[in-house]
Amino acid sequence: MAKRRLVVVGGGISGLAAAHAAHRAIQLAGRRADFDVLLLERAADVGGKASSRRDGSWLVEEGPTGFLDNEPIVDQLAEIADVQKVPAQAAAARRYVVRGGRPRELKPHPLAFATSGVLSPLGLFRLLRERWVKPLEGDVDESVYDFAVRRLGKQAALRLVGPMVSGVHAGDPLHLSLAAAFPRMREMERQHGSLFKALSAKRKAAKAAGTVSGGPMGPSGVLTSFADGLQSLPRALARPGRFDVRTRAVVEALVAGAAGMWRVGLADGTSFDAHALVIATEGWAAAPLVEPFAPDASRVLAEIRHPPLHVVALGFGEEALAKCPVGFGALVPRDEGYRMLGVLEDSHVFPGRSAPGTLLLRVMLGGATDPRITTLSMQEVEDIAVSEVMRLFGLTTPPVFRHTKPWAHSIPQYTIGHRDRAATAHADLERASRRIAPVHLAGNVFGGVAFSASAATGWRAGERAAHELLAAPA
Ligand SMILES: Cc1cc2nc3c(=O)[nH]c(=O)nc-3n(C[C@H](O)[C@H](O)[C@H](O)COP(=O)(O)OP(=O)(O)OC[C@H]3O[C@@H](n4cnc5c(N)ncnc54)[C@H](O)[C@@H]3O)c2cc1C
Repeated sequence: MAKRRLVVVGGGISGLAAAHAAHRAIQLAGRRADFDVLLLERAADVGGKASSRRDGSWLVEEGPTGFLDNEPIVDQLAEIADVQKVPAQAAAARRYVVRGGRPRELKPHPLAFATSGVLSPLGLFRLLRERWVKPLEGDVDESVYDFAVRRLGKQAALRLVGPMVSGVHAGDPLHLSLAAAFPRMREMERQHGSLFKALSAKRKAAKAAGTVSGGPMGPSGVLTSFADGLQSLPRALARPGRFDVRTRAVVEALVAGAAGMWRVGLADGTSFDAHALVIATEGWAAAPLVEPFAPDASRVLAEIRHPPLHVVALGFGEEALAKCPVGFGALVPRDEGYRMLGVLEDSHVFPGRSAPGTLLLRVMLGGATDPRITTLSMQEVEDIAVSEVMRLFGLTTPPVFRHTKPWAHSIPQYTIGHRDRAATAHADLERASRRIAPVHLAGNVFGGVAFSASAATGWRAGERAAHELLAAPA
């Protein structure tokens, strides 16, 4: 009897996690002889946004820098792939925000922060009143900006929260939904009545448990990558042996096939059957694929914007090493007169990113607040990055290395209404699963935009699809 097949569309971290979870579930059930797992990836290589390029001694991340090691599924994947995790260097704990044209360190100690010049005395006073601001009642889908102004004051919203939102989501705080994009912050307010109170509780708990307490907005964990860059993990996960991986395989159509089956059509004109699907593409790419069998899911997926983002890697010499303040990098508020969203100091974050005596920086431009970046040529974007970085750090010697990656569709924007969109999409796909055959969505469009969150959505979708297949009558 022919084997039954589970097809995963998309070879980013979520698709690879899905394929591994499915393979593992099938193996644990002792049914490898009955089932195939096949992963199809549009590009020439796996990894999706995780894209690491080596050019001589420069190791450039075109996408994510790393992940927070707070997701056991990523640990499990690293173990399966047999790749060694590398934690960020101690220097990466130092973070900067630009104020008055120069980078200022965000010091954790309250007195040091107060004297850093990031906020004016009035702004600081307003921030300190946060403990006494009443929590918002009810299930309001509030924007990140409105939440920040309400709790922290307008100055902190513009100078601290805005840049942080650009840094994580390439987003616009005026439109992002707090509940969807930063659910932990919303929970902090709900549970403790105040972010400051929640923070003290979190610090106490972390101290008692001997773990690392993350920043005020985000989850705890240590920033982590791999010696040869983040793409090492997807590449190692795609090594032959467990399931088939086809690159340069563009899925063009997914339709109901013979009873209990999907028909998968590729751009090269070939097609074949599948008994279960995991769609682990970007949201904008999933929208047309699900349209024939889940029109509501397709509509809400198409509503989710993925703004363009340019990543410009610049390699400098000794002067930059001497002049750039050592740390993770600097975020740039929108009112500082710079077009760049921020600059990362990769050589200080992970070892082996550039030769001794050099400094590899990465500049981010574009995002939801500057979609017009696409009207510029690559050369123009690169020139802006060079001149702004040199201005910020007072450099006189131009970079000796440049590499630019333009992402036409970067990070999905969890704007107001995102939770409703997620519910609509999941309900519509559930109906299609019952009507036709199992189909699940994975990836960063609904379960969190972080690399580790995407891996977790993939693992769960793959496991579920495999269990449904295993349970179905042959
Ligand atoms: C510039 C940048 C910086 C980031 N920095 C960080 C960071 O520091 N830390 C962090 O945690 N996260 C970061 N992120 C977010 C994180 O990288 C992503 O959320 C995560 O990698 C997404 O993984 P995924 O598998 O869901 O999607 P993707 O990686 O986008 O993979 C989707 C895959 O599907 C394939 N595909 C699409 N359509 C088809 C089709 N029709 N047929 C076949 N294949 C198809 C695509 O080619 C792609 O490989 C960053 C993102 C960007 C863009």
